[in-house]
Order: sequence, then structure tokens, then C-alpha cells
Amino acid sequence: MDQVVDQAEVESTHYDIVVIGGGPGGYATALYGASAGLRIALIEKDKVGGTCLHRGCIPAKELLESASVHRAVLHAGEFGVFVDGAPRIDWSVTVDRKQRVIDQMFTGLSGLLKSRKVDVFNGFGSLGPDRTVTIAGADGQRTQVTGDAVVIATGSLPRTIPGFEPDGATVVTSDEFLDLRTLPATAVVIGGGAIGCEFASTLADMGTQVTILEGLPKILPGCDSDVANVVERAFKKRGMTIRTGVTVTGHEPSPGGGTAVLVGEGERIDVDLVVVSVGRRPYIDGLGLEGTAVGVTERGFIAVDEHCRTAEPGVWSIGDCIDTPQLAHIGFIEGINVVKDVLGEKTVPVDYGKVPWAIYCHPEVSFAGHSEQSAKAAGIDVVTSKHRFMGNGRAVILGETDGLVKVIAERRPDGTGGTILGVHMVGPWVTEQLGQGYLAVNWEATVDDVAAFIQPHPSMSELFGETVLSLTGRSLH
Ligand code: FAD
Repeated sequence: MDQVVDQAEVESTHYDIVVIGGGPGGYATALYGASAGLRIALIEKDKVGGTCLHRGCIPAKELLESASVHRAVLHAGEFGVFVDGAPRIDWSVTVDRKQRVIDQMFTGLSGLLKSRKVDVFNGFGSLGPDRTVTIAGADGQRTQVTGDAVVIATGSLPRTIPGFEPDGATVVTSDEFLDLRTLPATAVVIGGGAIGCEFASTLADMGTQVTILEGLPKILPGCDSDVANVVERAFKKRGMTIRTGVTVTGHEPSPGGGTAVLVGEGERIDVDLVVVSVGRRPYIDGLGLEGTAVGVTERGFIAVDEHCRTAEPGVWSIGDCIDTPQLAHIGFIEGINVVKDVLGEKTVPVDYGKVPWAIYCHPEVSFAGHSEQSAKAAGIDVVTSKHRFMGNGRAVILGETDGLVKVIAERRPDGTGGTILGVHMVGPWVTEQLGQGYLAVNWEATVDDVAAFIQPHPSMSELFGETVLSLTGRSLH
């Protein structure tokens, strides 16, 4: 940790804002607060960057990129580019590259915090009365700082399930998966949510025989079902087995290595690796909170109002440790809003039903706003339109035609679309194409507003334009 504050250099132990936790939520608060001229202390027990940089978004996406390179090489012959022999994977090289990406981003973030004059304390923070934070350093030294405001941004940890305690070798959570030095020949991924699907996609592209076991009726719960169906079909086409509505009861390690996963009434699936991907729990362990009014919800999250204020005056909480979507960019916006609130500026609370979601499996998924199912469940009369990448020139050029764009809009009396309520995408690079859809949903734009704008040709974003246009009752392709 090269960002540690030398206690002797700290002029005073009082700050405008004291932030506990240096993940996306915490470091965004620190950077944005410092850019507004505030004096900030950031307390981190491990490394700034948090789950996202060290055990989450960045490493997971880096490994997916390696998988994408492998796919590209496998199909290079279709483009007239021939690589002699079959491509060979050396996973240890892949994992080393992933670490270099993390290290580069970590150095950049540490430098940015330093240049903004944020005081970074390396230690474990706990909160007591009067916005006093005690920092226990690794060397046992204890320091106290106080703040006009305190922000709790202590994040989350992977959930586990009874009978599947991670051992880092045969049974892993995301924490260990991202550091495996070898690829398994066979794997079970328990949980078909975003992270489970990203890991399953990576492994399958690298040649592992993957089985996804999901307890719910569909993988990717929360996604529009047309989108989830495309992913399911594409996964199956790549040889994955997807089992939904199943219950795992435990596993029995095999003497020669690997283990047998026990499913339902006595079924056994023999695999080399079990990846447990069943969500994340808020991490507020050891945070103290004695003598404060900070509350905790039944599910273990810090209780906050729509401005991320806790019940203790001057104490806010953001990111994965509160019950809002567990996404890095949600931590960013909550951190920005808290700084504004501290400064007494007007903030618009986040509309959590309209935030951008991105899942980087192959094919990718992205969306903002209502799915067709959630809009109907909310009693809204909707009209929808879907266009497939199969008919999009740029996608055909890429050779990546699995996928679609679906727009959900309020139904007007004449059957055309009114206000755009949801934009859902699955297919090539859709995580980079959601921007327009996100703005449309959050600006409460109508179909007519958006249909008047031009999309560059040939581009994959044309599919969004065409989908919106067809909701006006007229269309091109
Ligand atoms: P964290 O990132 O968990 O950071 C909390 C920090 O607080 C940690 O560094 C921890 O060490 C520190 N800390 C905790 N307690 C204390 C204490 N008492 N004192 C001092 N320090 C403390 N999100 C996306 O938006 N896009 C993605 O593509 C994406 N992919 C993901 C892939 C994986 C495999 C995983 C696991 C997560 C992914 N996420 C993704 C989720 C994202 O990583 C989290 O939403 C995000 O990191 C939450 O930020 P945070 O600041 O709330 O918490």
C-alpha cells in the first residue's frame, strides 16, 4: 500500500468527510469531495479499489477479454486469417495479464487520490459516537479521526451456501476463481446470475465443460425473458449444460481430486471445480456503530433513506453495504450525491428502477428500465418492439449475429409507442451501446423524440434506432 498516511504528517485529525472503505463507493466520495475542495480521510483495510478493482469488475472483464481473444483466433479462418495448428491456452499467462491490468489501475487510482490530497489511512475503521472513527492499523496502532460527515462504504463479500465451504481449489467463490492458476476440464457454476454467467461464459470459451445449476426457473433473473432466452440458447450452442429449478444439497470430494456435486434426490455431477456464485452479502462486520443511531435492516444492510442518510446525524452509507443494486457505478453516483448533500446542495435521489445494468458474458447483456414482464406486472399498458442483430450490417461483418434490441414503451391509444420505459439489449458490444437507451429511459423521452435522431451507418447502434422507429408505426428495415 503506497498511499498510507504517515501519522506524523497529518496536521489534524478532523476532516470534512471521513470515508470508511476504499472501494468504488468510498473512493468516488473521496475524489469527488476533494475536487469540491473538501478535506477527506479515506480508510481502507486492504487496497484502495475494493472488490471492483481487485476481486470483481476489472479482473472478471479481463478474463472475459482473454476468452474473446481465444474465440477470435478459433474463428479467424472464416476471415481468411489462418493460424497454423490449434490455439494453445496458458491460463497462468492470462492470469498474470489480469494482474498487470489491476496493478496499473491501482497505481493510477492511488496517484489520483494523492494528487487530490486525500489522506488514505491503511487500517480497519470502526465508528463510535460523535462521528469519531477509530482506525486499527495492521501494526496494532490505533488512531482516531473525526469528521463533519462520515460515509460508510464497506462493501460486500461473496455469499456461500451450507455444504459448499470454499477451499480455494475445488470449491471457490468469485474471490478465488479470479486467481486460479489452471483451468478445470469440468466445472459446475452454482447460480445463473450475472457473475455466474460471466464465469460460465469465460470457462466455456476456454474449453471447460460447464454446467450451470440455477434454483430459479430461468438464468439471469431480472432480465427481460427474450434477452435471457438468447443467452440461454447461445450458451447451449457453445456446449454448456443449463439446469434450472434445481437444488444442490452438498458435494462429496473424490479421492483422486475433484468432487461430486449432489443435486436434488441423489443425482451426482462429477467435476473438477465448483464455482459458488449465489450473490453477495453486505460487509459491516466489526464496524462498531455502538453509541450511534445507525440502523441495520433485517437483511443486514445499513439502513438509509433516499439520500443515503443513516439515522445518525452526519453519517451516510453507500454502495454494496446498503440495499441498492450492487454495482460499482451505483457506488459512484451515491458517493457523488452524498458529497452534494454534505455541501447542502440539492440532489436528485437515484431512481433505482432505471439504472444501467451490464453483464459481460458472451453474448453481452445490457438494460435500463422496465422489462416487458415488469412493466406488465406494474399494470402498465405497453407496446414493445424487437430487432435482431441478424439484420444489422455491422454485426454480420463482425460475425456476431446472436442477439436483439428490445424497446418497451407506453402504449398510445393508436397502438404506437409513447414514453420509453425500458431498453433491453443482448448481443455484440451491447454494454457499450446502452448509453442512448439509458438516457431515453431516464429523460422520459418519447418514441417520437428519439426516432428523430440519426444513428451512424454501418453501426450496431442502428439497431436501437430501428427498434425505436418501428414503435412510431413506420419503419425502415
Ligand atoms: P467494495 O468494492 O466491496 O469496497 C469496500 C471496501 O471497503 C473494500 O476495499 C474493503 O476492504 C473496505 N473495508 C470494509 N470494511 C472496512 C473497514 N471497517 N475499515 C476499512 N476498510 C474496510 N459491478 C459493476 O458495476 N460492473 C461489473 O461488471 C461488475 N462485475 C463484478 C464481478 C464480480 C466477480 C464481482 C464480485 C462484483 C462485480 N461487480 C460489478 C460489483 C462491484 O464490484 C461492486 O458493486 C462494487 O465493488 C461495490 O463497491 P463498494 O465501494 O460498495 O464496495
